[in-house]
Amino acid sequence: MFDIIVIGGGPAGLTAATYACRAGKSVLVIEKNAFGGQITWSPRVENYPGFLSVTGTELGDKLLEQAMEQGTEVELDEVTACSREGDAWQVNCESGAVFEGRSVILAAGAKPRMLGLEREEELVGSGVCYCAVCDGAFYAGRPVAVCGGGNSALQDALLLSESCSKVYLVHRRDSFRGERKLVESLQKRENVEFVLNARCKAFEGAEEISGLLIDQNGMEKLLPVEGVFVAIGHQPDLTAFASYLKLDQKGYADADESCLTPTEGFFVAGDCRSKSVRQLTTAAADGAVAALAAVSYLDHH
Ligand code: NAP
Repeated sequence: MFDIIVIGGGPAGLTAATYACRAGKSVLVIEKNAFGGQITWSPRVENYPGFLSVTGTELGDKLLEQAMEQGTEVELDEVTACSREGDAWQVNCESGAVFEGRSVILAAGAKPRMLGLEREEELVGSGVCYCAVCDGAFYAGRPVAVCGGGNSALQDALLLSESCSKVYLVHRRDSFRGERKLVESLQKRENVEFVLNARCKAFEGAEEISGLLIDQNGMEKLLPVEGVFVAIGHQPDLTAFASYLKLDQKGYADADESCLTPTEGFFVAGDCRSKSVRQLTTAAADGAVAALAAVSYLDHH
């Protein structure tokens, strides 16, 4: 039996593992896709303290290496169920494997919602982006589109307008969900154009994006962009763990800064936690906090 089973091998989960191992606990991290999580989608990370510039994959590898160096065990598998059996947690995986732990840190992350267009996944890193803070600098001096009408899209458009030659803000309605102040700031930017009542239809370009085909008020139009920043919200998927959590309206796990859930021995860290800033640094911070809370729980039970 492990002291701690960490579900999710992104920056939150791997940081939690490193901290817990260093506190003398046995730790298993289960990741379903790629260790490193969402950052592996980022061609270059330039906002993680201590690294001037690193690829997302490289940073993910380093986080994994560090956790394993401290003694973390890892499994590439998808967790399908999690239940409490007496004093232990039983974690069931897609492969049929079952693991037992005295406590669980849920660091399952949240996926950016996708537009659902053809080749969208294939073009990630070749024009399709989900994080302007992470990837905006690669489009300096180039025309881009931002899709969405919430605060994330508005803030992304503002940020990108500082370095990109042109920013088309594509929104499916004629009014924005995000704050009026942000809209007003955008209206003052000469290189920002609102494209309202518009739906994204297709990406143009073979290996790199050269345009975004939209349908605006029933008319097809091609926006000449080299990057498309999708900011239409995030989607956590915590349904398998819902009975041990209190979920907020958007499906994120409610927990305060101490990463405690309403269930004893069950902690939550990173992007799947209800919070306002979802960045690499806040995920790593959560990982440390959740690990130390779990260590304290184990030492007193
Ligand atoms: P959001 O508020 O849920 O907005 C998502 C936007 O994407 C909406 O405008 C929505 O359109 C649009 N959308 C959703 N699905 C779409 C689809 N399939 N195709 C096209 N458009 C689609 O998400 P968010 O902007 O990521 O913000 C999430 C939360 O974080 C919000 O509470 C937000 O206020 C908060 N936030 C706050 C700040 C801040 O600084 N205060 C910054 C960022 C985020 P409709 O409007 O038509 O539904």
